[in-house]
Amino acid sequence: MTPNDNSILASLYDSIPDTSSTCEKCSDCCGVVPFVETEASNAEAWTGKRPHLNGISCGYLSDHKCTIYEIRPFMCRLMGAADIIQCEKKRKNGCNPPLTREQASHLVKMYRQVGGPMVFPTLDDFIQAAKT
Ligand code: SF4
Ligand code: SF4
Repeated sequence: MTPNDNSILASLYDSIPDTSSTCEKCSDCCGVVPFVETEASNAEAWTGKRPHLNGISCGYLSDHKCTIYEIRPFMCRLMGAADIIQCEKKRKNGCNPPLTREQASHLVKMYRQVGGPMVFPTLDDFIQAAKT
């Protein structure tokens, strides 16, 4: 992690249009979500836990609410904002994905250049399970 990673990530987060007004907050999209290492470290500092699963749900989900909402990772923010990661419920509520495919691909490409390797909760869970 470089000291600059969080500011670059913050800038990328700011580049994703806010589509929360059309979100039904059903948490159906809170399953296996990838983090980059910086995001995983931020979540660990916030909660004491690395990205993990609780059954088939993201481990940061509690009572249908995201417990790390302020620092949720890039992919959670992108949900419904681009046609490469659409949400039918948001679309039904009037959200036509505001980012074009090209814009979203560009943001994802930039995202993959910061924050270190991807961290997948399932992989982390497998590793933890293998240690016990
Ligand atoms: S983005 Fe879609 S699936 Fe996720 S909580 Fe909102 S309405 Fe539900
Ligand atoms: S980090 Fe939050 S928004 Fe993202 S999948 Fe987990 S509970 Fe859902």
